[in-house]
Amino acid sequence: LTRLYGPLTALSNVRVDVMSALVSFDRVFEVLDLKPGIEEKPDAVAIPPGSGRLEFRDVHFRYPSADEVSLATLEDVVALDRTENAPVLRGVDFVVEPGQMVALVGPSGAGKSTTSMLVSRVYDVTEGAVRVGGVDVRDATLESLRDTIGVVTQDSHLFHETIAENLRYARPEATEEDMWEALRGAQVAELVRSLPEGLDTVVGERGYRFSGGEKQRIAIARLLLKHPSIVILDEATAHLDSESEAAVQRALTVALEGRTALVIAHRLSTVRDADQILVLDDGRIVERGKHSELVAAGGLYAELYRTQFAVGDSPALPYAEETEQ
Ligand code: ATP
Repeated sequence: LTRLYGPLTALSNVRVDVMSALVSFDRVFEVLDLKPGIEEKPDAVAIPPGSGRLEFRDVHFRYPSADEVSLATLEDVVALDRTENAPVLRGVDFVVEPGQMVALVGPSGAGKSTTSMLVSRVYDVTEGAVRVGGVDVRDATLESLRDTIGVVTQDSHLFHETIAENLRYARPEATEEDMWEALRGAQVAELVRSLPEGLDTVVGERGYRFSGGEKQRIAIARLLLKHPSIVILDEATAHLDSESEAAVQRALTVALEGRTALVIAHRLSTVRDADQILVLDDGRIVERGKHSELVAAGGLYAELYRTQFAVGDSPALPYAEETEQ
């Protein structure tokens, strides 16, 4: 029994390590907008500059199991567990035309975050293709993919460096004027200007500690500096007070203007403004359309709308009142 349980216990620890390694990858990736370590094909092609078209073609995905994450020294342990992870996406197919905003909604675990991560190659599809500007992301040069895609998540990460250095990850050649412009767009210039050391203020644990909403706005300033034509946004704003949330919202409005956007939507105003809403359930798109059409259809969206979007959203909620009658 010990021979059996010993390795299994070791294995579960391995899984934890692999998972936390992936989590920290995600954090760095958020700054660079691409996962470090992904490889470019020798014959990679550049995505045409300014491309705003995003396509998912019959995308299937399951997370790599521990034995597929190459850990040579742990091979024997890992070999004990060959159970594959279940498919997470099963035939996801949609197009976001240049300049459109598409909202992804669905119950927890439906596959929204997974879908968003396939665009910037945090993971690659198991089957099917994700194309940006007509180019399969796996065939694109990393530089062109990094230039085209910008990511803003709910958990924005800033390095323990100066504000200027944090911003320059987005555009190394940015001038101070560029940075101030981006900070203004992101609704955080006044705050930075009020700090004695301005752009040279060191941020983080042992430096100036931004609040969650301020960090998010610095992340948005980074996005504005980078000028990506496609933005992937997870708009959860759960930890923000309403004043901070309003500022983040204004910053995001600036950031999304004129850009293609794929948004994991949590706000009523987003789903109502979306050119198209995709309703994911258990890895499949089960409904698609505009807010009013989907509410009228009375399916899963209508239910999500009643339970998620019409509850706790601060702006005027005429639809919420209607549904409560
Ligand atoms: P939420 O609204 O709760 O954030 P979501 O719709 O974004 O959910 P995903 O995070 O994409 O859903 O997760 C889809 C499925 O994939 C879930 O069943 C989840 O448990 C699984 N999953 C997520 N990350 C991993 C991982 N690293 N390894 C294995 N399975 C994972």
